[in-house]
Amino acid sequence: MKIVRFAIEKKIQYGILDGRYVRGIKGKPYRDIKPSGERYGLDEIRLLAPCTPSKIVALGLNYHSHITEMRQDAKTPANPILFIKPATSVIGPEDKIIYPPSSTRVDYEGEMGVVIGKKAQWVPEEKWREYVLGYTCFNDVTARDLQSADGQWTRSKGFDTFAPMGPWIETELNPGNLLLETYLNGERKQQSSTSLLVFPVPKLVSFISHVMTLLPGDVIATGTPAGIGPMQSGDTVEVKIEGIGTLRNYVVKF
Ligand code: MG
Repeated sequence: MKIVRFAIEKKIQYGILDGRYVRGIKGKPYRDIKPSGERYGLDEIRLLAPCTPSKIVALGLNYHSHITEMRQDAKTPANPILFIKPATSVIGPEDKIIYPPSSTRVDYEGEMGVVIGKKAQWVPEEKWREYVLGYTCFNDVTARDLQSADGQWTRSKGFDTFAPMGPWIETELNPGNLLLETYLNGERKQQSSTSLLVFPVPKLVSFISHVMTLLPGDVIATGTPAGIGPMQSGDTVEVKIEGIGTLRNYVVKF
């Protein structure tokens, strides 16, 4: 099932994607999903970010290939390296990534996003699946120059528009071995598999839930593989994940 969040005229609601149509549902998709009886053509609506996280918990250095491209002598972390992207950085499919004037290098980072479906606190690893609603494409946009200048990542990863996600949440999927690709202006820049995550999804759900409570709609950005690189104003960036779909965004100047 593909869960979407969408706008029709001024109303925002959730629905289920059904071919070229969206069937509306009542309320939010975190408990029982009940149809509202409304049905819209995809061309009548605007897809939005598929959830509204209270926080995005993102992973640093969670693919070996990215660890070695960042630092040749780098070691694999003993524990997941977490950072937060603020709720205000979220944008949806086809939205614009705004290049901030304080940066001269803004990078894409294609990642798989895990959307939490149920309040998660102190979750044992073997129970992780009960707490996950599904999976989406995520772009952990990063002002690379500010990341190294600051020595920590809040500013470089926290700008408005730096968390594109979507186009929907796929609920029926095994996240353990999915092809992940990032395209810049149609040219493939990243290609990996979620089977290569240093810390896989069950471990991440459990580990993070022992640090902070995850709420329905929160997103875990699972980290990026090798191939990161800069974007320029005018570029089109796409994150494509097998079994989910393609998230497309456009880069513009502030
Ligand atoms: Mg990242």
